[in-house]
Amino acid sequence: MTVTASLVQQLHRINRQKTDLKGQLERGPKTVAAAGRKLQAAELNVSRIHDNLTRMKVDADGKQLQMKEREEKIHTWEGQLNTVKENREYQALKNQIAADTQANLVLSDEILELLESIDEVEQTLQEAQAGVEEARTELERIEKLVADKKVVLESELSRVEAELVEAEKGLAGDFKQEYKRLVAAKGEDAMAELEGKCCSGCYQSLTPQLLDRLSLGQPILCPTCGRLIYQDLAR
Ligand SMILES: [Zn+2]
Repeated sequence: MTVTASLVQQLHRINRQKTDLKGQLERGPKTVAAAGRKLQAAELNVSRIHDNLTRMKVDADGKQLQMKEREEKIHTWEGQLNTVKENREYQALKNQIAADTQANLVLSDEILELLESIDEVEQTLQEAQAGVEEARTELERIEKLVADKKVVLESELSRVEAELVEAEKGLAGDFKQEYKRLVAAKGEDAMAELEGKCCSGCYQSLTPQLLDRLSLGQPILCPTCGRLIYQDLAR
C-alpha cells in the first residue's frame, strides 16, 4: 500500500462529516413529521370535545323542551280543576299535577347539572383550541427552522463531498477499489483509528507486525473486522 496514514485519516474525517450531515438532513423531515402528529392529535382532541359538547347541548335542549311541555300540561290541568264536578275526578287531576310537578323538579335539577357540565366542557374546549394554536405555531416554527437548516446543511454537504472527491484523488489502483468497496458497504465505519494496540472499530489487539506497519505510516486492514486502520502519527 502506497497510501499514507494521513490520507486515510483525512478520508475518515471527511466521510464522518458526510455521514453526520446526511444524518442531520434526514432528521429534519422526521422532526417536522413529529410536530405534525402533535398538531393532528390536538385537533382530534378538539373535535372529540366538540362532539361531546354538541351531544350535551342536544340533551339539554331535549330536557328543557320536555319540561316546558309538562309545564303546559300542568297549566291546562290546573285550569280544568275548576270545571271538574266529581270529587274522584278532581282528586285524580290533583294527583297528576302533583306527580308531574315532582317530575319537573327532578328534571330541572338534571338540566341545571347538565348546564354546569356544559360550562365546564366549554372551558375545556377553549383550552384544547389554544392547544391546537400552540401546536400549529410550533409546527410552523419547526418547519421554518428545518427549511433554513436544510439550505445550510446541503451547501455544507456539497462542500464536503467535493472535498472527498479531491481527497480520493490521492488513492490509486487496488487500494482505491478496496476503499471504495469498504466505504460503499460501511460508510464512515469503513475506517478506524488505532487506539493503543487495538482497532478502535472492533477493539481486537493487533499483531506486532501490523503495529510495525502502522507505525511506519502504512494503513492496514483489520484482520478481525476488515476496517481500514490508520495510526495518527502526529500524536
Ligand atoms: Zn477491527
